[in-house]
Parts: sequence; C-alpha cells; structure tokens
Amino acid sequence: MTLQELTAHITAEFQKTYGRAPSYIAAAPGRVNVIGEHTDYNDGFVLPMAIEFYTIMAADKRPDGAGIITFRSTSQPDAATIDLSQPVKPSTPKWGNYPRGVVAGFLARGINPGGLDVLLHSTVPLGSGLSSSAALEVCTATLIEAVTGQTIDPIEKALLAQKAEHDFANVPCGIMDQFISALGREGHLLLLDCRTRKTELVPMNDPAVALLIINTNVKHELSGGEYAERRAQCEEAARNLGVKSLRDVTAEQLEANKGKLSELVYRRARHVIGEITRTPQAAKEIRTSNWTAAGQLMYASHAALRDDYEVSCKELDAVVEIAEGIGNTGGIYGCRMTGGGFGGCCVALVKAVEIKSIAKQIEAAYKIKTGIAATVFSSRPAAGATIIKG
Ligand code: ADP
Ligand code: MG
Repeated sequence: MTLQELTAHITAEFQKTYGRAPSYIAAAPGRVNVIGEHTDYNDGFVLPMAIEFYTIMAADKRPDGAGIITFRSTSQPDAATIDLSQPVKPSTPKWGNYPRGVVAGFLARGINPGGLDVLLHSTVPLGSGLSSSAALEVCTATLIEAVTGQTIDPIEKALLAQKAEHDFANVPCGIMDQFISALGREGHLLLLDCRTRKTELVPMNDPAVALLIINTNVKHELSGGEYAERRAQCEEAARNLGVKSLRDVTAEQLEANKGKLSELVYRRARHVIGEITRTPQAAKEIRTSNWTAAGQLMYASHAALRDDYEVSCKELDAVVEIAEGIGNTGGIYGCRMTGGGFGGCCVALVKAVEIKSIAKQIEAAYKIKTGIAATVFSSRPAAGATIIKG
C-alpha cells in the first residue's frame, strides 16, 4: 500500500472504530540496513534505508475532554491506555509500552498532547528485523507533534524514541532504527556514525538498481543471551587491545595484536573492524553507482557475519547462496543478512529490470532448499516520518 492508500485505509478504519473522522494523521517508515551490522554498539558506521512500509496513526481529541490516551492497533486485540493524571509507567498490553515510552518522553519535555483516541496500522512486518518497533515509536512522536503543533528536532525525536525502547520495552537497542525512521529522505540512504551521531545522506536514485528484501520467515528462538554475549566479547576485545571501542582499531593493528585475544574474541573483532571499514566504503561505491563493488562488500559482510560473528543461520545462508548462484549475470550484485541475525531478512542489490524474475527464482529455490515460503519485496529509499494531517 502506498502512503496515500494507507491514509485512506486508516481514515476509514478510524471512522469505523471511533464513529468520527480523525483530525490528525502521522506515519513513520520501517527500515532495512544495507550494510554495517553489529557495528552500532562498537561506535561504528551503519547504512540503513527507510522502506515504503509504514506505521500510520490516526487520532482525534477525546470528545469528553478526559485526560486519557487510548491506542488501538489493527493487529492487536487489546487497547493500550495512558491516564495522563498519573505518572506514565510500563504496563499491559506489552505492545503499548512503545507508545507509552514516547508519551512519557514528551511529558518530560513539558509537551502534553492531552486526551486522545488513536488508531494505528502497520505494513512493516512485526519482529522481522525491519524495525516495526522504531516505526511505532517515531510515528507516536510525530503524531504528538501534529496534535500539539510543537515539533522537536528530528535527532532529539530519534533519541527520545530510542529511550522509550530502552526504558519502557526493555530493549537496549542502538540509535540506527529511530534515526533512519525520523531522518530518512526519499531517494537516499543514511550513513550514520554511531560514535559522533553525524549523519550523511547518500543518494541512491538510479532507476537501474533496486533493493530486494527477502524475509526468510524464520526466527530462531535462542537462549536470548546471544546479543549480550556478542557485546561482551567486543568489550573484551577493546579492553585487551587497550582502546575505548573497536572503532579505534584498524585491521592491521588487530593482526599485530592477535596474541592478546582468544581465537573466538579475535574473530568477533575481525568482523566488527572489517564491517566498520566496509560501511563507508559501500556508501562511496553507491554514491558513484559502482554497483558491483558495493555488492561485493555486501557479500563480504555476510561471510563475516556467518563465519566470524556467527549470527547467521541456515535459512539466511541459503538465500545468500541462491543469490550468489544467480550472480551478476542474472542481475544480482550482492546479498547479505540484515538485522541482528538468527532469522529475519536478507537484503540484495539487484538490477531493477530483473526484479520480478529474481524474486521468483529466489522464492522457488528457497522453497526447495528449506521447505519454507519466503516473502520477497522491493522498496525504493523512502522518506522518514511525516505529518499527513494536522
Ligand atoms: P522489529 O522492530 O524488528 O519489528 P521488535 O521485536 O523490535 O521487532 O518489535 C516488534 C514489537 O513492536 C511487537 O512485538 C509489538 O510489541 C510492537 N509493534 C510494532 N508494530 C506494532 C503494531 N502495528 N501494533 C502493535 N504493536 C506493534
Ligand atoms: Mg525493533
């Protein structure tokens, strides 16, 4: 659904739910990370793109004037409410903690939207690594801006949304997802330096290429400690190498000081250091339409995530192998897992004219290899959060 179609959809659904038309509408996109994986918590670079899949919210002030916000989601049975006369705290249903955290952030800045009826709908698949959570947070923030007429700096908005995810959803995420959802620009990727928070828009509007997102439709339930374990290994590597973070180490320095690390921690560091170098390189190749070189960096990223960082899985590897098999001649420049790993999505850089044929080939080959149906879709680089009405 285009943003225009989504707007019509949420308007009609709001009317059905609350019996009147909405006065405010806001939307925020999900994202795909083109390259720069597991670099954010190492002060490194990431290169995400906002996708044409959105969380959209429609709202109206409560007719009775009560200081209560009701959030309803088209995908959830239970509404989430906030009583503005009480301190805002995490509560049930759990999904409501994302918007609750954002409302709390605005209240802390002295911005109070007052009582509202809200309906939200999302075309970002939930829990697939395309950041439906950041889309939900940034959309909530943008809706509050629409309602109050008080806009905040987009970087401040992204940080407020990140804090909501930390404090209310208990997810210690980096800054990438909220930054791209708030700051994305149509036709551009966003190169983000997670150390300085400096951002740089990277044009990618060559109609000859497109990004394909392949959802493996698997999510391996692990012990849950993998993310924390990887973070701890990176911290150990930095400590043993005598630096603040792995951002401060070159590949040459790592090799020269290999003896200071266990074999496992050395491999973890090798991925991170390689990936921090690859990410701005990929931005440069994309800026100059050097698609083959950009694609090679994506394959290298995948290999390091699979072999050194060990966060891939057989389904993600299957997609990348299929892509390599189709190859440059078949219209694929590069492919890699995207997101935290252990399932979720792959992203591929492809020739635009071959999109349909490539999608079909990947779907068929993936079904044969894994017995699972993948979901394949493409997106142009989309704009970040917008106020549609209000
Ligand atoms: P991802 O951000 O990769 O999609 P997360 O686990 O970080 O995965 O976030 C998914 C969670 O965000 C869902 O379980 C739900 O709590 C919340 N969420 C996202 N979108 C919606 C929505 N449209 N309606 C209700 N909850 C949502
Ligand atoms: Mg998320």
